[in-house]
Amino acid sequence: MADFDLLVKGGTLPDGSHADIGIRGDRIIAIGALSGAVAGEVIDATGDLVAPPFVDPHFHLDATLSYGTPRINASGTLLEGISLWGELRDTATVDEMVARALTYCDWAVSMGLLAIRSHVDTTSDHLNTVTAMLEVQKIVRPYLDLQLVAFPQDGLYRTPTGRTNLLRALDMGVDVVGGIPHFERTMEEGRASVRDLCEIAAERGLPVDLHCDETDDPLSRHIETLAYETQRLGLQGRVAGSHLTSMHSMDNYYVSKLLPLIAEAEVAAIPNPLINITLQGRHDTYPKRRGLTRVKEMQAMGITVGWGQDCVRDPWYSLGTGDMLDVAFMGLHVAQMTAPEQMSRCFDMVTVENARIIGLEGYGLHEGAVASLVVLDAGDPIEAVRLRPDRLAVVSKGRLVSQKARNDARLALEGRPQSVRRRH
Ligand SMILES: [Zn+2]
Repeated sequence: MADFDLLVKGGTLPDGSHADIGIRGDRIIAIGALSGAVAGEVIDATGDLVAPPFVDPHFHLDATLSYGTPRINASGTLLEGISLWGELRDTATVDEMVARALTYCDWAVSMGLLAIRSHVDTTSDHLNTVTAMLEVQKIVRPYLDLQLVAFPQDGLYRTPTGRTNLLRALDMGVDVVGGIPHFERTMEEGRASVRDLCEIAAERGLPVDLHCDETDDPLSRHIETLAYETQRLGLQGRVAGSHLTSMHSMDNYYVSKLLPLIAEAEVAAIPNPLINITLQGRHDTYPKRRGLTRVKEMQAMGITVGWGQDCVRDPWYSLGTGDMLDVAFMGLHVAQMTAPEQMSRCFDMVTVENARIIGLEGYGLHEGAVASLVVLDAGDPIEAVRLRPDRLAVVSKGRLVSQKARNDARLALEGRPQSVRRRH
């Protein structure tokens, strides 16, 4: 009888160590030097990076792959995107949304992205978005962990049924409480929405993840209220603030008071660099603000920060591939995280740190962990961020779910090697 159902041999782990990984059923049951072991199936990862799967803590699966429907976002702004999506949300059928989302999940699996937290718009009374995404969650469950956030895109209080529909979505089984305080009518209503949403989460025992201060307005300070309410209600460790772009523009003295409050409340931060760098600063002439929150400064305070993807081919963003290494690559540049330990941290931010933010259970490469991993055509995490290479093999819950042949370029140059890989 075989020792393992699946054996991943000879890989380099993100910490630089070399180990074989023995899998039975959906679990890693042995990790280390496993020479001589017999396995039903063997993946040879010699010389390649073997990492736990990528995790995206911020996405919009109901809107994905809808770019250009009903038309393209001409101004490129967040607000035109919201308005375009508002039209699509009421014409798209449940079947269409399910089909688009499943296609995106296929892309994700092929890139080794096996856990996604997706916000789901709860604005429309028909809640077709919620029906569709719950259906997708059920279909992909065997191979992809999909967490859903009830997200009142047009405001909790700004539409007559905003609050009721958010509660209905939670009753239907949506996992996380969302919000958008900077989009409410006034600062006061924004603040009240944060309090209300945190109380709903406390009462129901749910996590919180708000689109928070996604604006260039330096006076948008809902993150302060989010940290305060988290601490007041004892929600430490289960609250995240997504975007936090206003922090880019805030007064430095105020930020020196704010960062310790966020750290004390154990609120995590989820910047979305591809989207923040394209949507923010649109009202500026020159110099133009980047709109990315203060990543290195938060990390220096011990705040958990993860890179999110946010959008792929939707009313807000025309590009995107489902590759979290694209996200890490952009984040590294915009946050100027160029020291070796910072580049390596960018890889952790799309793997282990994101897994911590969304509370993923059994994550990682150790005995007893869920047997999910990705084999990359790279030697280490920094090289993975630099090359954004092919995912040679993806294992989800013990099953080999995606494979790609190594694809070196063939050179036809006199006196030069016949192929080139760009690895160091
Ligand atoms: Zn978002």
